[in-house]
Amino acid sequence: MKTIKKNLTQRRRGAKAQKSFFAPLRLCVENFFCMLLALVIVACETSSHQKATKQWMADDGRLKVLSTTGMVGDLVKTIGGSHIDNLVLIGEDLNPHAYQLVKGDDEKFARADLIFYNGLNLEHGPSLQAALRNSPKAVALGNSIMEANPGLILHYDGQLDPHIWMDMSLWAKGVPFIVQALSQAMPLHAKEFVANGEQLKTEMLSAHQKVHDQLQKIPSHKRYLVTSHDAFNYFARAYLADQNESDEAWQKRFKAPEGLAPDSQLSAADIQGIIDYLDKYDIMVLFPESNVSKDSIRKIVSAGNEKGLVLTIATEPLYADAMGPPGSDGDTYLKMIEHDAKILASYLQGNGKEERETALNASR
Ligand SMILES: [Zn+2]
Repeated sequence: MKTIKKNLTQRRRGAKAQKSFFAPLRLCVENFFCMLLALVIVACETSSHQKATKQWMADDGRLKVLSTTGMVGDLVKTIGGSHIDNLVLIGEDLNPHAYQLVKGDDEKFARADLIFYNGLNLEHGPSLQAALRNSPKAVALGNSIMEANPGLILHYDGQLDPHIWMDMSLWAKGVPFIVQALSQAMPLHAKEFVANGEQLKTEMLSAHQKVHDQLQKIPSHKRYLVTSHDAFNYFARAYLADQNESDEAWQKRFKAPEGLAPDSQLSAADIQGIIDYLDKYDIMVLFPESNVSKDSIRKIVSAGNEKGLVLTIATEPLYADAMGPPGSDGDTYLKMIEHDAKILASYLQGNGKEERETALNASR
């Protein structure tokens, strides 16, 4: 695949150097190769996923665990170690809010010895929701965390905010429930699960503190965030808020055009609401999310720039509803949150009244 990419790069250089009669033809050929490359990549990913699923379905003495999202599955995998075989149901390019069962998923539900899901109504695609509700093997991590810590769960307009993994200290409260379920299923390995859980919790709390300290170095008046959908409320409370900030104050630190579930449906009022917010808090940058269309934030940036704001879109997306693909800098739960913190730490420094005035003057 590297060779194909290299070939493509070389071909592009050649096309630029020789502007000729055949340029349109070259463009067609390049487009064809780009499409071919994309198809090859998709085919590779699909076949590796199929291979992993086939392996998971086979009996190999390990406990077969199905996790709905990567953020759930990564914790389960770390705690279960070599005794379990974890499969993530919803791929990193898909929307967990709306995921519906596809061909082959029923077999996964039947094969799984244990199922872990986020809960708090994250997985509300009707067929998946029904399968989870009807399965005696399914453990809702978020709901267990809520029962033990009701005061820490956020609600908006009567709806639960399911994005609890975006606060590492809150997500760490799910660890004992995984340890408990795995230990009941494999009592012989319970001690190991407990030890793995303890270690994971320590790592999560240490990463939590690190991300908190990293983002608190940004001056308070710059710690305002706009992304595609409402996935960052817990994150804002944990990492962007000042110490002992009131609910009313920290809730103003994050806004998104799309609601608790991304739907790409934007009204003129939604766009205006975000533009007013960007203007009020001198925000200069909007952040796309890895598995959500950029359409909404593009519309806002274009409308805002027309109205005289200077807005840009961060070149690297944040991870919110999904981890990054294997090999990326967000391919584990801890890495995805650390990736977000790194991106935010660099871009949020650009917010502020003075920075905005400088940018406005430069654009005139
Ligand atoms: Zn979401």
